[in-house]
Amino acid sequence: MIEQARQALKKVYGYDSFRKGQEDIISGILNGRDTLAILPTGGGKSICYQIPSMLLPGTSLVISPLISLMKDQVDALRRVGVSAAYLNSSLGAAEYRDVMRKAMQGEYKLLYVAPERLDAPMFQTLSEQLAIPLIAIDEAHCVSQWGHDFRPSYRQLAGWIARMKDRPLVAAFTATATTEVATDISDMLKLREPSIFVTGFARPNLSLSVVTGVDKKKFLENFLSGRKDQSGIIYAATRKEVENVYEQLTRRGIQAGKYHGGLSDAERADTQEKFRFDDIRVMVATNAFGMGIDKPNVRFVLHWQMTSDIESYYQEAGRAGRDGEESECVLLFEPADMQVQRFLIEQGTGDTDRKSIQLAKLHTMMNFSRTQRCLQQFIVDYFGETGVGACGKCSSCLDKSEPVNRTEEAKMALSCVGRMKGRFGVTMAAKVLKGSKDKRLLEFGLDRLTTYGLMRHLPEKEIADWLYWLVAEGYLKLSEGQYPVVSLAASALPVLEGRESIMQRVRATVRQAASADH
Ligand code: ADP
Repeated sequence: MIEQARQALKKVYGYDSFRKGQEDIISGILNGRDTLAILPTGGGKSICYQIPSMLLPGTSLVISPLISLMKDQVDALRRVGVSAAYLNSSLGAAEYRDVMRKAMQGEYKLLYVAPERLDAPMFQTLSEQLAIPLIAIDEAHCVSQWGHDFRPSYRQLAGWIARMKDRPLVAAFTATATTEVATDISDMLKLREPSIFVTGFARPNLSLSVVTGVDKKKFLENFLSGRKDQSGIIYAATRKEVENVYEQLTRRGIQAGKYHGGLSDAERADTQEKFRFDDIRVMVATNAFGMGIDKPNVRFVLHWQMTSDIESYYQEAGRAGRDGEESECVLLFEPADMQVQRFLIEQGTGDTDRKSIQLAKLHTMMNFSRTQRCLQQFIVDYFGETGVGACGKCSSCLDKSEPVNRTEEAKMALSCVGRMKGRFGVTMAAKVLKGSKDKRLLEFGLDRLTTYGLMRHLPEKEIADWLYWLVAEGYLKLSEGQYPVVSLAASALPVLEGRESIMQRVRATVRQAASADH
């Protein structure tokens, strides 16, 4: 059957070969395996369910929350002679009935349905009257509370599928799922021994870098003056920061636009158009900017601050280099920016569970910002893809600075954290090492610890940074939840026992800033 699939690829879409992963996913489905496929945006998910739907007898259902995408896909399928239709809130009552009637007569190979539309009686009718060989679930992370876009209607769907008499094959697709989310999707949708595919997350044309400890304004100035003919996006965490950066740029005579939720629809549409047609070179924006921009020649994405999680970071950074040309993604990281994100999460609408998930994600983002590992590997690892080598071009890979032996400082910090018995956060541990006279510290009697004041020669902020670095490198761990406490990770033991030394590359931030000059 895979031969037929290849023919369909050529005949229907005009492509000569499958992309990485597509062929395995399709042959898995055609061989009757439930499937969970995690492919990045633009990775070519739709073909993975469209081709099997064309080849399998009956009408396959595609569940998708994205109304505009449904229309685009259905139009495209019809153009190439595949019968397809959609059911969602954009249809009038008459159209809706018409599609339903034709669907019942088995007229479609693919029927797209929005999850909100799919109530129990309708699902029942469809599943009783139609031969449904396959249910493809797009944006499957919506079924997981651990995902970033949980939707209750997806949960119900899982129950209905489980209760179907002739249970079809289920193939779930998503662009963002950590290993935890993937497991959750599989459990929630009750996938039966699914084949799991994670592929295509690496973006070899992107050079990722994290820049720390610089004067951001100066850095930006240098950075932009070295890239005068390039188009790029600067993401900032808040509207206020967007305004500040925008002002800085326009004062310097740079053609910049701004984009955030506080501007009118018309203003935003106008700026977006200008950016698209290169009338504006640099767009300064909050994360509100992005849905639906598909500008191929974005040469850099600069993050003025860290994002709240790796998913958002990579999605935003990934808007660089859509055309496959070399592009840069720069993250300006200051530990204090974590507080901004923390504040945004705490002020957010989520319930306590949701918030602690978000805080855990924020910590991973912080680990990314401090890691010495290859940044590309860190990210693909996070999405569960294995076997991707070091990129050789990120700020970690290019960091040739001599590693400094920091075993003694590490022992001080680790033994202090060990003595605090996992009851306090990083700030308190830093205060103890500093020998602070903080009231709470004294109340808890932490000044009686033998490690009190061990690092008094350093500023408290630097000690906290050092502790965070030990977290990022996996010697310490932070608990989840609103007030994360710090404790020893298993790998701290060999260090404390003197069996392992700790080397730290002092990031050459000055060099980074300078190298952005050319
Ligand atoms: P996703 O849903 O994963 O974001 P799409 O299914 O929309 O991605 O595919 C992204 C683009 O890649 C589309 O333009 C699609 O036609 C194209 N594409 C998909 N598979 C192939 C292939 N095997 N060869 C060439 N182009 C492909």
